Amino acid sequence: MGGGKPQTPSTSLPKLVARPVGQQIHSIYKERLGQFTSNGQYSSQNLQAAMYEGRASDDEHVKLQVYSPPDLARPTFEEATSHEFKDTHAGVSFGPSWSTHWFKIDLKVPRHLQEKERLEFLWDADNEGLIWTEDGEPLQGLTGGGKRRIEWILPDSFRDGKSHRFYIEMACNDIMGNGIGDLIQPPPPNRYFQLKLADIVAVNLEARALFVDFWIIGDAAREFPEDSWEEHQALQICNEIMDTFIAGHGSQDSILRGREIARKYIGNVDSSKVYESEKEPHVYAIGHCHIDTTWLWPWAETKRKIARSWSNQCDLMDRYPEHRFTCSQAQQYKWLEALYPKLYDRVKSKVKEGTFQPIGGSWVEHDTNLPGGESLVRQFLYGQRYFESRFGERCKTFWLPDTFGYSSQLPQLCRLAGMGRFFTQKLSWNNINTFPHTTFSWVSLDGSQVLCHMAPDETYTAEAHFGDVSRSLSQHKSMDQDNTGLLVFGYGDGGGGPTSEMLEKLRRCRGLSDKTGRLPRVKMGDSVDDYFARLEKKAENGTEFVTWYGELYLELHRGTYTSEANNKWNNRKCEIMLHDIEYLATVASLKNSKYQYPKKAIDDIWEDVLLCQFHDTIPGSSIEVVYRDCDELYAKVFKAGGKLLEGAMSALEFNATATHDSELKAVNTLPWRRAEIAKVPDSEEYALVSGGPGLASVETFSGVSKSTASIKELEEGVFQLSNEHFEVTVANGAITSLVDVSEDRELIPQGQKANQLVIFDDKPLYWQGWDVEVYHLDSRQELRPRKSYIVEKGPHLVSLCTETKVSEVSWVKTTISLAASVEGQPSYIEMASEVEWRETMKFLKVEFPVDIRNTEASYETQFGINRRPTHYNTSWDMAKFEVCCHRWADLSEAGYGVSILNDSKYGFATAGNLMRLSLLRAPKAPDGHADMGHHHIRYAILPHAGPLDHRTIRTARNFNHPFKLFRGSSIPNASASLLNSIQLTGSPALVLDTIKRGEDDEDVSRGELPTRKGRSVVVRVYESLGGKARGCICVDGDVLPVMKVAKVNLLEDDGEEMKFEEGKCRIELRAFEVATFRLQL
Ligand SMILES: [Zn+2]
Repeated sequence: MGGGKPQTPSTSLPKLVARPVGQQIHSIYKERLGQFTSNGQYSSQNLQAAMYEGRASDDEHVKLQVYSPPDLARPTFEEATSHEFKDTHAGVSFGPSWSTHWFKIDLKVPRHLQEKERLEFLWDADNEGLIWTEDGEPLQGLTGGGKRRIEWILPDSFRDGKSHRFYIEMACNDIMGNGIGDLIQPPPPNRYFQLKLADIVAVNLEARALFVDFWIIGDAAREFPEDSWEEHQALQICNEIMDTFIAGHGSQDSILRGREIARKYIGNVDSSKVYESEKEPHVYAIGHCHIDTTWLWPWAETKRKIARSWSNQCDLMDRYPEHRFTCSQAQQYKWLEALYPKLYDRVKSKVKEGTFQPIGGSWVEHDTNLPGGESLVRQFLYGQRYFESRFGERCKTFWLPDTFGYSSQLPQLCRLAGMGRFFTQKLSWNNINTFPHTTFSWVSLDGSQVLCHMAPDETYTAEAHFGDVSRSLSQHKSMDQDNTGLLVFGYGDGGGGPTSEMLEKLRRCRGLSDKTGRLPRVKMGDSVDDYFARLEKKAENGTEFVTWYGELYLELHRGTYTSEANNKWNNRKCEIMLHDIEYLATVASLKNSKYQYPKKAIDDIWEDVLLCQFHDTIPGSSIEVVYRDCDELYAKVFKAGGKLLEGAMSALEFNATATHDSELKAVNTLPWRRAEIAKVPDSEEYALVSGGPGLASVETFSGVSKSTASIKELEEGVFQLSNEHFEVTVANGAITSLVDVSEDRELIPQGQKANQLVIFDDKPLYWQGWDVEVYHLDSRQELRPRKSYIVEKGPHLVSLCTETKVSEVSWVKTTISLAASVEGQPSYIEMASEVEWRETMKFLKVEFPVDIRNTEASYETQFGINRRPTHYNTSWDMAKFEVCCHRWADLSEAGYGVSILNDSKYGFATAGNLMRLSLLRAPKAPDGHADMGHHHIRYAILPHAGPLDHRTIRTARNFNHPFKLFRGSSIPNASASLLNSIQLTGSPALVLDTIKRGEDDEDVSRGELPTRKGRSVVVRVYESLGGKARGCICVDGDVLPVMKVAKVNLLEDDGEEMKFEEGKCRIELRAFEVATFRLQL
């Protein structure tokens, strides 16, 4: 016992509390929190009532005038402001859908507001807008419709009591286009938007700050587990804030005291200093605005969405030093540069500061299922060259959050384009299996790897809620290796990206983590590249990230391999055309010094083609007007391309002296010799065209050739077509027997029918244009043909036409042809279909049951082959009930196989021994008329003894690249020899895919990047079958004086110098490797 005075015993009862106290009813005190900030019945009594200190909207202080351009025009600032404006006021409605209205606004801040801390102008018409200064500088975007971005902070210069003018360009669409109710239904043309708000307000910034404090602490009370002290404390803090506000009758003092109470839980969150604590973050937040280049709106609107969104971000960066914003798609930057030069300069200065961060390295955020190999290369080449030329740097991270599945060759291609990192997230949309990884190493067909991260929050348009931060760890699937995640936040598609409110919320989340804990610690201020650099460091230090081999197949949106067939047809034809243009123009530029390699024209075509490969364009998930725009663009591209081909051909003097009866010649633009029977243009005659690479001969048949094709009607409606290789029996339009004569092998199982047209009911769960759902398979119906008749009787080619009625409004006319066999060339049965298609929610396919057994089928993909199951053993196998192929799909067993070739299709399925090529769909949303009309489709059956090999690869290419026939009398030798001056010999698995001029050659460069001395030819080769292959690039030195050969990457940076002697460069490629070489002249 201590000393001191002895205590006098108290006579009163010992008490801790003077009154009965019950335990709070947790649920009621939690539910109560909603009262404090909601807009409901208590809004005149709660914090909402304190948000504004004053307001003015009368005509004297807010004077509105409008100019409404006719015909849905979108005039520039200069055009629009040169017109007369008429008086208008809030309450008026503006429309129709897609129209533009320019408002001239004269603001006069009333005296009683002039001294207030923060003045804002609020504008809400439920649609999008852009604020312009009086002299034509875009300042900031606006997005109405409730919660998004309706405020513009008035400059201090407006406080002088005088009238100040600015403009608002209103676009009559909301952030998701113009659909009403159901997002994806075709937009009605007559939507109107009421101008609901055009007010000057004085903002109570402390009330606004308390609102966000309370929101985040309230979330902690709602979302932390009830068995945590952090949850209980959050609830107590929130109730204390409310009680203080009530006790103070909502006074400013009670608001300030509320903020003080909040600081007990979240600390001081009023500046970016909140991020300066040394503690290790788990969640790296990055601002983003996903702007679909087309989707529920056309390109013309996208261009304005970019200006609205990016100007917002520049403004936010001025106010929030921690803010970092990342944005992909070179095309969008290029549009900004051309259409909004002042804003572009502002963006450029932010890029320099490091706050606005270009990413992705591709031209657009493109689909990766459908574009061909060279298209993928060019997405990177054009994208990276743009970023490098404008911002002095290439991108290091490939950014593709929203694409419908990811090609198995992407890791190789993006690595070869300087990007070893990949960000995505779309696989979280799988509706069958959950993708098991968040951070992993993704392995290409050739073994190349990229470090891949999928935002664990499963979105790229997060609103930076407490829950987004929390899910960035709770949904993380790779925490055995790493416990960090990227949080990608900001409204997309016209929502304008991150808002100040989102940045305020994140500050509070961080404050909460540091002061109280339990919430993953979020950090702002880094870049996506910083994030990946940390992961790479871990990998270097021995962390073994989980691996995923092959394609990242999206278990959804399988209809996009088929929807909007015309668009896909155009893409395929453009890819072929560009291949030919570059090959011929390269040769022409080396032969003829007067001929200028048409770099700009080629670039323009490529950029247009790449643009149409955007991830909602080529897949077929955009609205109708987008496809009308594409049709126009493709028409322009084909016209320009046709001229380039002509130009190159005439520079090669191929048709210099040609007359109508000059000799027929042909060019084979493919890198191997080939021979085919072809119809002579403008004649009924056939000819054997053979030769190449390069020039080929055309021999018209005089009399009967050695080999013939024949056709006979065996009995009514039953025909037999035959040549040296095959006997094909066709009954009722379907192939009931296909015999390989030399192998003595029947390919059609007994009683089954190949080339059978089938139709399915096609009503997916929701996303019509995107999806075909697994149950459509249960509705299969065979189409019965009406009649078949012989069209061509031989001897060089026989053909049989079958007419099939689909319904009262749709029909198919299919011509089955068999040409006489050509020595040394594989023979195939070709089908050419003409379709009139007017169906509703139906899916047309054609079937090929074959007597082949294998648990895997093969499908061509870019520069390679994907193998996929033909069975439904597991849900992962079953999910691939419809897959993507390029020019061919193949089912082979030991000793024999069948390939199905096509000229413009991408959807395929192989179940058991049944192969099915998808032809046409008929979705009614978002394009109400998708695929309605006339179609031409070619496909073929290519049976082959032995395994799947180069015969399929080459024949499928031949099928897509017809010989170019022309009339010419004397072809200069130099031209002829130049055309085949570069040859690839050795393993037939090697494909010489592309020949082009070096991007930066002195005579080619457009000056955007430093030039290289001299002239060069770039050749791209890939290994097509999946094994190590050796070959030789052989150059005819007499016509092509190559000095040296270097291996380069896709961006044409020099790599290893190759041994090059006597015109020969020996090469060895690993399985499915894509290798590019520069031949320096
Ligand atoms: Zn998208």
